[in-house]
Amino acid sequence: MATTADIVIIGGGVHGASLAFHLAQRGLAPLVIEKSFLGAGATGRSSGLVRMHYDQRTNSELAWASFQYFRDWKARVGGHCGFVRTGFLQLVGAEHMDALRANVEMHQAIGIPSLLISGDDVRRLAPSFSTDDIVWAAYEPESGYADPASATNALMTAARQNGARLVQGAPVTGIQIQGGKVKGVETSEGAFSAPIVVNAAGAWAGRVNALAGVDLPLDTWRHDTMFVVRPDGMGHTHPAAIDDPHEMYFRPEGELTLVGLEDSNPTGESPESDTDHAKPGFVERAIERICLRIPAMEGGSLHSAHGGYDGITPDQYPMLGPYGPDGYFLECGFSGTGFKTAPAVGACMAEWILDGAPKTVDITGFSPMRFEEGRPVVREHPYQQIWH
Ligand SMILES: Cc1cc2nc3c(=O)[nH]c(=O)nc-3n(C[C@H](O)[C@H](O)[C@H](O)COP(=O)(O)OP(=O)(O)OC[C@H]3O[C@@H](n4cnc5c(N)ncnc54)[C@H](O)[C@@H]3O)c2cc1C
Repeated sequence: MATTADIVIIGGGVHGASLAFHLAQRGLAPLVIEKSFLGAGATGRSSGLVRMHYDQRTNSELAWASFQYFRDWKARVGGHCGFVRTGFLQLVGAEHMDALRANVEMHQAIGIPSLLISGDDVRRLAPSFSTDDIVWAAYEPESGYADPASATNALMTAARQNGARLVQGAPVTGIQIQGGKVKGVETSEGAFSAPIVVNAAGAWAGRVNALAGVDLPLDTWRHDTMFVVRPDGMGHTHPAAIDDPHEMYFRPEGELTLVGLEDSNPTGESPESDTDHAKPGFVERAIERICLRIPAMEGGSLHSAHGGYDGITPDQYPMLGPYGPDGYFLECGFSGTGFKTAPAVGACMAEWILDGAPKTVDITGFSPMRFEEGRPVVREHPYQQIWH
């Protein structure tokens, strides 16, 4: 006989754990089923950047609501999430000045601590940065980065203390549907019946949708990152930054600096591909670019490089909410930026499932219905597509 659960969540990444945390807080007993181990997917490879600067309002609102968790993690969740405040700089070329100004105004209207600063200010905050091309930048003094593995563990631990269950090493191989309604899932470890099933399977979400007979435009997205040992004399830290002119982001990690690139992130690959090594050519391109922004990095040395896979959608915004058979929900398609928003997305999804509508932030614009209705999410003041 199948084991029964209130809700089955497929995938033990930060999103599965956050949803379980919020459902358990509301008195439900969700079951998270993970094919491998907690944080084995994108979450375990995430760069963990925690900033609110987006060129789309809902994402900024989600990041700001989530920031309240990162800043106050012990009281809100328990355990720790490894949040380190470094300050965050959004650097853009002169052609994006109007968009930068408009986005900072939007952030300030939400209540996010964000301000426009001059190139001279950037030099004072980050003396190692080359700033000749920077006239203005956006600065978030409160932002930084967190440790995605610790955050996910803490969310799942708190969820379990409130009645959630976690089954690891159990791939979901089937979704049971009767009369247009979800009835449960089949796994390598047996069947679990539940009236609600949530797809939080990251880069595998398209495959899980197929088990439910759901066909949506979800692809896989590959992203490599590199860690460099900073040279002596560069200072013990530096702000985190998205460097739009060089299509790169970077942040400190102790005495290391983590670097990721916005271009050449392939889509459509199997998420089972090798992630222990970065793709050929990535490290050379990343070193060239970080040395353009931080010339002293010429004296640095490579520590390590690897990759990871997330799910991506055509407009690069997540798919959230009910879709397909009754009781089937999506929390996937985070398109490479889903760590920093996970706490609030979990809260919103718990509200959507239990109350019929999200309240913390209105995420209904991220419903997968938008693709068949021909109204993809549109950035209000875009710099460029994040990934290309
Ligand atoms: C290299 C990299 C760097 C990133 N940097 C940042 C960043 O700086 N800031 C940021 O906000 N975001 C970042 N992201 C994006 C962010 O990490 C992801 O959006 C987020 O972690 C997605 O979490 P998730 O829980 O949806 O997916 P995942 O963490 O991928 O979890 C999905 C889980 O589902 C499991 N699963 C799949 N199929 C099945 C099945 N059939 N049965 C059971 N379990 C299954 C998988 O094993 C996996 O553990 C980055 C992503 C990558 C790859």
